[in-house]
Amino acid sequence: MSFESLGLSAPVLQAVSEKGYTQPTPIQEKAIPIVLMGRDILGCAQTGTGKTASFVLPMIDILAEGRAKSRMPRSLILEPTRELAAQVAENFEIYGKNHKLNMALLIGGVSFEDQERALERGVDVLIATPGRLLDHFERGKVLLNDVKVLVIDEADRMLDMGFIPDVERIVGLLSPMRQTLFFSATMPPEIKRLADRFLSNPKEVTVSAPASTGKNIVQGLVVVPEEDKREALRRLIKDQDIKNAIVFCNRKRDVAILQGSLKKHGFNAGALHGDMSQPARMETLEKFKQGEIQILVASDVAARGLDIVAMSHVFNFDVPFSPEDYVHRIGRTGRAGNTGHSFTLASPAEGSLVEAIEKLIGAEIPRVEVPGMEAVAFDPSEGRGRRGRGRGRAPGGGRSGRSGERAPRAPRVEREPKPAEAEVQAERAPRPERTPRPERSERPHREPRQEPRQEARHEPRHEAREPREPRSEGRAPRERRPERRDRPHRNDRHDRDEAVPMGLGDHVPAFLARPTR
Ligand code: AMP
Repeated sequence: MSFESLGLSAPVLQAVSEKGYTQPTPIQEKAIPIVLMGRDILGCAQTGTGKTASFVLPMIDILAEGRAKSRMPRSLILEPTRELAAQVAENFEIYGKNHKLNMALLIGGVSFEDQERALERGVDVLIATPGRLLDHFERGKVLLNDVKVLVIDEADRMLDMGFIPDVERIVGLLSPMRQTLFFSATMPPEIKRLADRFLSNPKEVTVSAPASTGKNIVQGLVVVPEEDKREALRRLIKDQDIKNAIVFCNRKRDVAILQGSLKKHGFNAGALHGDMSQPARMETLEKFKQGEIQILVASDVAARGLDIVAMSHVFNFDVPFSPEDYVHRIGRTGRAGNTGHSFTLASPAEGSLVEAIEKLIGAEIPRVEVPGMEAVAFDPSEGRGRRGRGRGRAPGGGRSGRSGERAPRAPRVEREPKPAEAEVQAERAPRPERTPRPERSERPHREPRQEPRQEARHEPRHEAREPREPRSEGRAPRERRPERRDRPHRNDRHDRDEAVPMGLGDHVPAFLARPTR
């Protein structure tokens, strides 16, 4: 099928052809004609499938007619992270170059004033993270009742990050007379229920099985003692033919530690995590995209959905807490027809996390060995016994399947330093650049808002649907997803990007921040 047969206008087709695309991807083929018809979409697609253009291209044509009024955007695209929002904005610039559409990007970490000026001028396309958008709304700088097209992108990620209450509130501020395009990489029941509430008679578009991993990604899993992970990573990097790679860590502080360690060993490594200022994040990302940084050590939030052309490798320094994150992480490689490689370093204690991933993707991740290093087995006391699974050979050989020969050890103390009081405060208190008030999107577990309920306006759209779930504003995502409570390393989550302690909000009493023996 050709782009010409999808119903797009000549100026959009010209921009597409100048970008060098000759054929629509499956999601574009399926979604574009439906969006142009004005219908709602429930799209199950990962990043890397061409999903962004599947909504950006038809939106440009839909918005080509008409003019935006001051502070009243005509369309709204919600993204879970600043990087994704910026990426969508880039797409609008490329594909919309033959149109005169005004665009504004509302993300945290950059000045409110510039964003307010853009809103004042009137915007056709507003791309925002939920928290920053609500901050502008509460300041009276943006009115949302003129939004005709709403895109909720990466809905499952919004759920993981605790943004759903904000998204619900935003949707409540919109007119029910709108077109809604809802995309998620996975479609767990919570997401489906949310889609049922937001969408009206949607057309479902699925381009790959939920939570499937790309076929052109060669995966490998290495089981090594926690304290040997850095050594294993270095050996793997040296052993592989790496063009560029992302190394994912579960914890923010490990990102900085690992980057420092890699640099010390002579690797060209940069770091990307949510505690960095927005300009520093953008600068690092740009250097990585330009090839000035070869290895980017990153947290999930910061590197989620990054579209880096022809990334050769993804390494998981830790097994992700959420199995869906595994799919997202390794999906940074093997894009646009290229072959990618992913290696996951698992400690003996991470067996149950690996098990959850394998259940989700419906396959066992092939075990490989690191040249010159001994393989160990998963600790049978962590999840199901997984003895003797260190099989498979990586280049360089070594023995495999050595169940229980090395007793699993606790992580080394220096990997998990007790943060000094100042560091604790820095992780939990508003960051300095976020003035005059902390960005809402960075503090998902907040007190419930006293706000007028808006759903009444949506009732007619959902008459025939299942009864709604009670609203869950102000509740932490883990409260709503009790099954996650049992996962290992739960306490480590406080060190994940955007996470803040429950119960105490931004305030941490000094006695809690004091190091304990
Ligand atoms: P996305 O899933 O939107 O993040 O897109 C993934 C990558 O595919 C991006 O680098 C796009 O520029 C690229 N892409 C999108 N549509 C096409 C197409 N029709 N042909 C080739 N590449 C595409």
